[in-house]
Amino acid sequence: MKIGFIGLGIMGSRMAANLQQQGHPLVIFNRSPEKAIPLVKKGATQVNTPAEVAKHADILFTMLAHPEAVTETALGKDGFLVHFTPNSLWVDCSTVHPSFSREMAREAHEKKIRFLDAPVAGSKNQAQQAQLVFLVGGEEADFQECQPLLETMGKKVIRMGENGMGSAFKLVLNHLLATSMAAFSEGLILGEALGISLETLLNILVGGPVAAPYLALKRSKLENDDYEAEFPLQWMQKDLQMVSLAAYESNVAMPLGNTAKEMYRLCLQRGLGEQDFSAIYAFLKEGSGGDRVAS
Ligand code: NAP
Repeated sequence: MKIGFIGLGIMGSRMAANLQQQGHPLVIFNRSPEKAIPLVKKGATQVNTPAEVAKHADILFTMLAHPEAVTETALGKDGFLVHFTPNSLWVDCSTVHPSFSREMAREAHEKKIRFLDAPVAGSKNQAQQAQLVFLVGGEEADFQECQPLLETMGKKVIRMGENGMGSAFKLVLNHLLATSMAAFSEGLILGEALGISLETLLNILVGGPVAAPYLALKRSKLENDDYEAEFPLQWMQKDLQMVSLAAYESNVAMPLGNTAKEMYRLCLQRGLGEQDFSAIYAFLKEGSGGDRVAS
């Protein structure tokens, strides 16, 4: 079975490498072709368009930035969807909103292609170490067929329900990640302004009951003022945009999520989009007068 992989960014490059390491032959495409080089050196076949991936692969994984990138790659000029052999399986691991996943499922089914939404929990390091958690929406039989491949890239694979339900759970997760990072940053900045050192704040809060456990993984970024991206801030802002859209579609009020969405938007306007989303701490600190202690 030949596997196609489209989208070789921070996450996709590492996920594809794990498939390759387990001996799966890959046919790959990335908009910026140079990102394919490490996989090509280890035997992957690089092609020039998404359409060519579909011509060669029985199962295709996409790991793309946002719904627009998925639409363009699947349905645009040289898109892959019309070029699949009927009954092929498309597994979209990109973080998108549930109604978009359902729309892609409809597009796929119309062309006799099977579809799973399978976004992931975990970041750059978990992708590297095949420790991702896959949240899958789609038919049980398709899920079972795909499960061994997902297990090659992750530690846990959960079927959440029908198409769209994987994306639904993923948005809940990222709402919590985004708002907790923003709240934690504000707490640190308040503590520092009141004269408590960042070191003391982190020593006591990280690992304690009021801070989310994942914040331990962000500690060195805050301490070293080094926000090299594990999860780019621009995609967190995009995810909050989709949380807001999904809430609108479901008639749910999310005042906190929408405030966080605009906070990350301000970070984007300050040029922090390609930094890790924890850079919201640096943004808020700058806006609150740096490390000045109020007299
Ligand atoms: P990334 O490094 O920025 O990679 C994004 C990928 O999308 C690249 O392959 C990029 O191609 C491609 N892309 C963007 N716009 C495109 C377009 N218009 N047409 C075709 N391709 C396009 O981001 P990432 O961190 O790997 O994230 C990928 C997905 O995983 C996102 O949906 C993100 O929300 C989700 N995710 C990320 C993390 C994380 O911690 N990083 C964790 C969980 C989920 P180029 O290389 O040409 O730019």
